[in-house]
Amino acid sequence: MITALAGGVGAARLLRGMVEVVPPSEITAIVNTGDDTILHGLHIAPDLDTVMYTLADAINPDTGWGLAGETWRVMESLQRLGGITWFNLGDQDLATHCYRTQRLQEGAALGQVTAELVRAWGLEIRLVPVTDDLLRTRLQLVDGPEVGFQEYFVRLRHDVAVAGVRFEGAERAAPGPGVLEALAGAETIVVCPSNPVVSIAPLVAVPGVLEQLRLRRDRIVGVSPIIAGAALKGPADRLLREMGFQSSVVGVARWYASWMGTLVIDEADAESAPAVEAEGIRCIVAPTIMSTVERSAALSQTVLDAVA
Ligand code: GDP
Ligand code: CA
Repeated sequence: MITALAGGVGAARLLRGMVEVVPPSEITAIVNTGDDTILHGLHIAPDLDTVMYTLADAINPDTGWGLAGETWRVMESLQRLGGITWFNLGDQDLATHCYRTQRLQEGAALGQVTAELVRAWGLEIRLVPVTDDLLRTRLQLVDGPEVGFQEYFVRLRHDVAVAGVRFEGAERAAPGPGVLEALAGAETIVVCPSNPVVSIAPLVAVPGVLEQLRLRRDRIVGVSPIIAGAALKGPADRLLREMGFQSSVVGVARWYASWMGTLVIDEADAESAPAVEAEGIRCIVAPTIMSTVERSAALSQTVLDAVA
């Protein structure tokens, strides 16, 4: 069994290749829910949906989120009504949020609903929200209030300085059913190239997770989301700097060193391998840009071989 710690796009890309080299039924992805939000009364879980749609080959390839071939009639109508339109929800995508919200209101847990959605898409991978309880990433802006993750990421286009990040609800959250077992029992734990500060940190903030990760350090392999000093997309580079870390593979290594045994960095950063190892993490250099499923599969194989 392989267990992956997953955010959104970076994780989805790696998992899409991993299912080519490992039977999907042997993979459990523990997914961030700190990005979740309620809009129009609907429970939106962007990271779960990005992973699910990508694995179903239904993702919009241009944006990396939402469904391919989407239409936007509901958003257009909302605009006319003066409703909230800064967060785009496609017509087909809305069905996912309607279904999720309805089932949650009936009393089903988020993990249960996620399993139902995954089955409806015909996937065999196990997607487990890190917790069924409330977990909300909040960012304190340097020149402004504390905002929720989607306000920061979408409405403000992550173009604002951040002074601090916290995970509301984390102390009281229980790990989702199967989360600690998936960490304890995995042959390899893969940390996807997701944003360390706002995608992986919320998972680690759920009580019990860090302790379990520390026990498994030798079996944990991460892929750096930072290549040549920059994130391929999104604010991982900027947030690392704002948290006092270098925006580099060395900064990523330092961020994870207390519980990660091996870090895969891109060929572009080969010369930083000794500096990564100086942080106390074994370093592997490989091509890590997942521009095709084949490249993602090759990277997955490298990651799995790292602790085989
Ligand atoms: P989000 O939740 O959709 O923002 O996505 P994640 O937190 O999973 O991922 C964002 C990170 O994924 C960014 O820091 C990107 O640099 C990284 N990423 C995306 N695609 C790739 C890729 O092909 N290779 C690597 N190494 N990182 C990637
Ligand atoms: Ca995310």
